[in-house]
Amino acid sequence: MKIRKVTTHVLSAPVEHPFTSSRGWLYKTRGTCLVEIETTDGVVGWGECYGPSAVAKAFIDTQLGPRVVGRDPFDVEVVWEDLYNRIKDYGPKGMSIAAISGIDIALWDIVGKLCGRPVHKLIGGAFRSEVDAYATGLYFTDMDRLIDEAVEEAEGYVRDGFRAVKMKIGLGSIERDYERVAAVRKAVGPDIRLMVDANHCFSVPTAIRLGRRLEELDIEWFEEPISPEDIDGYVEVSRALDMAVAGGENEFTRWGFRDAIVRKAMDIVQPDVCAAGGITECKKIAAVASTHGVECVPHAWGSAVGLAATLHFLASLPDQPPSLFPFPPMLEFEQCENPFRDHLSTEPIQQVKGRVAVPSGPGLGIEIDRSVIDRYRAG
Ligand code: CA
Repeated sequence: MKIRKVTTHVLSAPVEHPFTSSRGWLYKTRGTCLVEIETTDGVVGWGECYGPSAVAKAFIDTQLGPRVVGRDPFDVEVVWEDLYNRIKDYGPKGMSIAAISGIDIALWDIVGKLCGRPVHKLIGGAFRSEVDAYATGLYFTDMDRLIDEAVEEAEGYVRDGFRAVKMKIGLGSIERDYERVAAVRKAVGPDIRLMVDANHCFSVPTAIRLGRRLEELDIEWFEEPISPEDIDGYVEVSRALDMAVAGGENEFTRWGFRDAIVRKAMDIVQPDVCAAGGITECKKIAAVASTHGVECVPHAWGSAVGLAATLHFLASLPDQPPSLFPFPPMLEFEQCENPFRDHLSTEPIQQVKGRVAVPSGPGLGIEIDRSVIDRYRAG
């Protein structure tokens, strides 16, 4: 049995209420690039690439896909190394690696289906059968009601059962950000875990000054305070603040994460399984992180495919540090409009009381509704 065919599906759906983060561009659509790999036995595996979907499609259709056809799907790591060594001269980071990620996830799905076991059982086993999830939201939508909309949205997540919420910051003034986060903290109360995400909009001095203020509000982590290229800056921010500093959603492969981890530039690294190199590479990034006392709490912003892959990865991560009352790594459960998160799997991945079950079926443990692919096909 060999890999017979690699197909990419570019999907796009309009967003009813466009939103932005500190980056400043409006999200008017949600899209993704799904990877479908079929074996000569007719087994189908699904993967997903994070980032501009037409770019991922081009990498796979023209470069990576043809190298995968004819291979043994069980050779997941062999295939990974071959694809990486083929493409790294043109891009050891970025969309080339996101494209490899989609293929890697699809191969794990196939291997799991062939073995009749969920992916997490193939990558070390389950440290947990369900994971705590945090709601990612509180973007900027109505610029005249920034505080009220954040408070209302956070209260909604708590009503829905979430016990942890991550909010966007980066409103151009320390006071405005502080005021908005303080209003949310007051609304949700002291028992809800609250994180902030700046999407790397601050300078080092501003990040430190704002961070010191936000520490008064019991913020669990400060995500992407500054630009991801500035490892020295991350070291400065991390040393200056008592609260955890997180980052890495735009970093790739074990080599990309190595310097940030070795220098302890951040307390928490956040590789995305659909971007940083797939499940295979994220396991290695987590292993490197563990050798330096850095936590690995993956980033996730994708469809049901990426969400399922993230859940299997999370199931396989040990508590750090291990203890009687540990803080296991949480699932980032993004809550903005996204039909691919909600409808692509025939049984949607959902939270109950802030917890999400790790899929237990073979492979990724989800079944794809092809009518959703047909409906939103954009390439
Ligand atoms: Ca983020």
